[in-house]
Amino acid sequence: MLILSEKITTNNKILLTDSRFLSDPESSIFFAIKGERHNGHQFIQQLFEKGIKEFVVEKDVVNSDSVLKEFLEKTDLKAFVVQNSIKALQNLATEKRKQFKYPVIGITGSNGKTIVKEWLHFLLEHEFEIVKSPRSYNSQIGVALSVWEMNEKSNLGIFEAGISLQNEMQNLESIIKPEIGIFTNIGPAHNEGFRSLKQKITEKLRLFKTSKVLVYCKDYKEINEELAILLKAVNPNIQLISWSRNRIGENWVETQLTETGTLIEINWLGESYDFEIPFTDNASIENAVHCAYTGLYLNSQSKINLDVFFEKFQSLRPVAMRLELKQGNNDNYIIDDTYNNDLGGLKMALNFMSQHHTKRQKVLIVSDILQSGLQENDLLQSLRDLIKSQDISVLIGIGSKFFDHKEFFSGATKVSSFFYENTSDFLSLFNFENLTNSLVLVKGARPYAFEKIVNKLVMKVHGTVFEVNLDSLTHNLNYYRNKIGNQTKIMVMVKAFAYGSGSMEVASWLQYHRVDYLSVAYPDEGVVLRQNGIKLPIMVLNSDPETYHKLFEYDLEPEIYSLRTLKAYLHFKTNLYPNSVSKIHLKLDTGMHRLGFIEDDLETLVEQIKATPNVEIASIFSHLVGADEAEHIDFSKKQIAQFDLLSSKITAKLNYNPLRHICNSAGIIRFPEAKYDMVRLGIGLYGIESSGIEPNALEVVGTLKTTISQIKTLGQGETVGYSRRGIIEKESKIATLAIGYADGYDRGFSRGVGQVLVNNVLCPVVGNVCMDMTMIDVTEANCKEGDQVVIFGKKPHISELAAAIGTIPYELLTGVSERVKRVFYHE
Ligand SMILES: *Cc1c(COP(=O)(O)O)cnc(C)c1O
Repeated sequence: MLILSEKITTNNKILLTDSRFLSDPESSIFFAIKGERHNGHQFIQQLFEKGIKEFVVEKDVVNSDSVLKEFLEKTDLKAFVVQNSIKALQNLATEKRKQFKYPVIGITGSNGKTIVKEWLHFLLEHEFEIVKSPRSYNSQIGVALSVWEMNEKSNLGIFEAGISLQNEMQNLESIIKPEIGIFTNIGPAHNEGFRSLKQKITEKLRLFKTSKVLVYCKDYKEINEELAILLKAVNPNIQLISWSRNRIGENWVETQLTETGTLIEINWLGESYDFEIPFTDNASIENAVHCAYTGLYLNSQSKINLDVFFEKFQSLRPVAMRLELKQGNNDNYIIDDTYNNDLGGLKMALNFMSQHHTKRQKVLIVSDILQSGLQENDLLQSLRDLIKSQDISVLIGIGSKFFDHKEFFSGATKVSSFFYENTSDFLSLFNFENLTNSLVLVKGARPYAFEKIVNKLVMKVHGTVFEVNLDSLTHNLNYYRNKIGNQTKIMVMVKAFAYGSGSMEVASWLQYHRVDYLSVAYPDEGVVLRQNGIKLPIMVLNSDPETYHKLFEYDLEPEIYSLRTLKAYLHFKTNLYPNSVSKIHLKLDTGMHRLGFIEDDLETLVEQIKATPNVEIASIFSHLVGADEAEHIDFSKKQIAQFDLLSSKITAKLNYNPLRHICNSAGIIRFPEAKYDMVRLGIGLYGIESSGIEPNALEVVGTLKTTISQIKTLGQGETVGYSRRGIIEKESKIATLAIGYADGYDRGFSRGVGQVLVNNVLCPVVGNVCMDMTMIDVTEANCKEGDQVVIFGKKPHISELAAAIGTIPYELLTGVSERVKRVFYHE
């Protein structure tokens, strides 16, 4: 049934915006959201089959899709037809918000939102039942979903709001309506969406339109100035708790380093308060002070136990801002999320796990949820439903609630399950040898110290790691998608271990983000992807008769580049796999003169393919020799013209149209007119804009890090390393790093050619790079043994490194040895 109403009536349903995340169909209402790439309306029928009965759909989509419309009309379901599903979702949250009178804290600013939110939660949880945004759920959708969780049992809300464009805050303001505002600070994040810093601040301040009080640091000149002007206009009566570390005004803050952190003294209304935090950096001090003033304000409204509140600052911990996928022992992968545990956060972590389409069994190690605002029975029920909705193979529940309700949890699911009263029982009793080839999510509330479990599961062989930022990967993918538009498909080159970044993980991330094709160099690389659950079509650049059977067994599509390889392939197929449909890709030589058909081959080529049943040309392509360099523009254009000509000759003889493609990463930027049906994205995805035309458009994806194993002070005249090539000219501090040329740190970086970043200071290599170690001069850096060192990342950039030794970033990236552990993360 279609209900033409902007007003959705639904009682406490679960609001579902992502079809993959269905847990309890009867209690869910699905919001079909149409984005640039994703269209939620596509999943309606499927979700209906799984039991959802209520939907929110968009008028335009329904009107233009008669099949969908008929389905919605004729089926026994409710479909609310609205202009815009996101807006409808937000309206619902706005209405929900109005039902509650208890205080709500709204946090915005460029950095620190999530930390301040999580810290406040920790500092106040003895005093309040708190609802808060899970993780950094601060977007247009995330805020609505967070506020929807408000309930009668809670008595404090803490929500963060993040914006990246003008006019976005207004919506968030009307949903959150914070009584207490916190403006953390202002920085360069998301600058693109705004004309000026001033505009960005103005927009952010809209969150506090009706707030009673605003906490902020007045040492940021910009905030202070804008604030005065803006608030006068919108909210003249707001109480300001502006504090300063420069002794300006009454709310001044003093800090003093201690052996274990920082002692902070804050002043408010003539009183002073002391507390200690286990951090020394400015950002942490600032975040803690925001929390302290917020606590004092709450206390002024209705008394809280300030002694406990201030005492707790000592136990603050860094907030893991990101979910990390780590390589573990026994061929396991570990998702480390050990900061806290609530239903929303668990849901998100499970979601992250489900984004890795893997054939490994999924294992969930989870602690009791300590605070949820729900009755115990409701909590246990929701938890069980959530676990049941995921396809988990092994559940390990730790804590007295899990332990006491063993039957309830194990009886309800078909997974094998283990329960322990506490973390140390688990560590001593569980047989870790049985945990192999799994994807393990470790999610625990803080008192359970789940980091001990992670330490046990994660390999510690070698201090060198290659960190891969999956969000930057997405950023770069979207950048290229915007360039090519919706009509052109995207093939991503994941050859050579995904340019060193880890092909299995990168491929599953790309599958989740729905790229069209993947390409690998050899059949074995494709086999690994298939064994790990990758279903996307895969093109294989090099295969030969010995490996043809793998193409058929694993549904891989070969590149065919000569009449000789064509003949061999067709012969193999006709004899052994006559009935399977085989897709092939034809490579044309338009100037590289490496592999590829030439014009004279075309006639025979097409005849032979047409004469073999069940062979289909999936695509025709060629490769540009110099798309990255301006000096080759003319030659590239000739290649494109030649490609046009040759590929048309082939398609003219077919009664179907294979995809055509010629652009690599640099080609996409330099020759947008040649994007054809598909592009082949390689190095650009990994953060290197090789054409140099848009040098700042991409984000760095890979950071190679290592640790300092030892530091020595050496006097003038001493030497360092093999062949005495590092000569000490004046007394220096020399550090030995756990990385060498066997890890991919080229020997060319010896003797000052290479520099690495040590606590923000660039330090040169001393002497020769060894096989497993490298020595650097850290005289200028403030560092100690065990500290992390960046070999390449944002700084130093891999392009600079490559230039220093006369090579290209491709070689350095693919050269990072497989013995270096890859760590994947996602914010
Ligand atoms: C590696 C490769 C690409 C990708 O090139 P980038 O410069 O990394 O974008 C494209 N096409 C073919 C045939 C390749 O081998």
